Amino acid sequence: MNVYDSERMAEALSVAGYQPVDVPEAADMVILNTCHIREKAAEKVYSELGRLKPLKQANADMIIGVAGCVAQAEGEEMIHRAPLVDMVFGPQTYQQLPDMISDLDAGRRDGDRVRLVRTEFPAEEKFAALNAAPRRPITRAPTAFVTVQEGCDKFCTFCVVPYTRGAEVSRATADIVDEANALAAQGVCEITLLGQNVNAWQDRETGLRLDGLLEALAQIEGIERLRFTTSHPRDMDAALIAAHGHNDKLMPYLHLPVQSGSDPILKAMNRRHTRAQYLDLVAAFRNARADLALSSDFIVGFPGETDADFDATMDLVAAVSYAQAFSFKYSPRPGTPAAAEENQVDEDIKARRLARLQARLNEQQEAFNREKLETVLPVLFEKPSRQADQMSGRSPYLQPVHVRVAEQHFDALVGRILPVRITGAHANSLSGELADG
Ligand code: SAH
Ligand code: SF4
Repeated sequence: MNVYDSERMAEALSVAGYQPVDVPEAADMVILNTCHIREKAAEKVYSELGRLKPLKQANADMIIGVAGCVAQAEGEEMIHRAPLVDMVFGPQTYQQLPDMISDLDAGRRDGDRVRLVRTEFPAEEKFAALNAAPRRPITRAPTAFVTVQEGCDKFCTFCVVPYTRGAEVSRATADIVDEANALAAQGVCEITLLGQNVNAWQDRETGLRLDGLLEALAQIEGIERLRFTTSHPRDMDAALIAAHGHNDKLMPYLHLPVQSGSDPILKAMNRRHTRAQYLDLVAAFRNARADLALSSDFIVGFPGETDADFDATMDLVAAVSYAQAFSFKYSPRPGTPAAAEENQVDEDIKARRLARLQARLNEQQEAFNREKLETVLPVLFEKPSRQADQMSGRSPYLQPVHVRVAEQHFDALVGRILPVRITGAHANSLSGELADG
């Protein structure tokens, strides 16, 4: 989501005459796009600002901005805590960037240092601005994100998102289809629909749900692959499950976070589903699409988590077998109910549980990658790899695939989907060769 937001900021800024550069030393403006989800992410902002300090000292005209959810949560406080910051603005205000910059410039012309804080929540306006600004991708990537839903009403007891991103709002079908058409016309062939609870998406006028939207997008010429993230188990419906069996463009990969395998912990987290309901969902998906690869997020050490609760998570992991997963130590976040619980788990217990869980998840990921050895997979070629003579792309299961090809073919391959024979399986990626010579 932040990658998408950063791209939209870059697009908004290109209208104001800015272009991306590779290093902060070469920049007239640096914007940190921040995440507030865990303490570690939030604290990183201040260490990054520390690294920018010498640049600002060398060039007083440099504009330093902080965007994203830390900006949203701290607002004015950040202006006081970080004197070098010129603008602090939340996720709902990116389309105002050109205006903010002219305000800063106007102040400078008058010899004043203007410092801006923009943290209002005009959700309707945000989609309006998204819709009004035509997409002009600043990269030639064949894949793109499209926001369809913003915010969250779920209030899981550990999570800051409902406070930083506001209530759930869905974007209108026609606007999404227009954006997808514009992207397809620019050579994009894979679209990932984004939303904090993407499967809660619903067109307010027509009642269309996500399966219908995916069906509409599948009709667009040039769009070959569709993905969506992140789904909440509670918002899953039969039609979306069934779509995985009949919408050929929908990729067989689903990110469906479960957080914990223990019913008492799921309840305390306010996830509003049980372990059994989650496992039933997984079975239903695999029934619709046998080769579906699953991924999830996990939190270990939620307040009150016992050894037995943690074992239940390990047991669920064994039962599902994930192709990929993200796992975190519980991080108490200001203002959330779980942070006020008294039965917090010791940091060293969290660390031990996380290590055990990650070892198991890594084993599963490697096993999943190994299963693909000697098979032929359709790979969407995206860009040159870091290694010479290799291009990288993605399998249907979102695995990065590195393929040896002569450099003169690189340009012609970007955005094409070609069969690749998998010859190497690694921890986080595959390698292979073009299957048709
Ligand atoms: N809407 C998505 C998750 C968005 S946040 C969902 O409900 O699945 C992304 C992930 O960050 C969450 O799935 C969770 O695993 C993790 N996370 C959120 N708050 C956290 C916290 N306080 N401590 C540790 N991990 C957290
Ligand atoms: Fe956070 Fe829960 Fe909403 Fe996901 S569903 S964003 S974890 S509150």
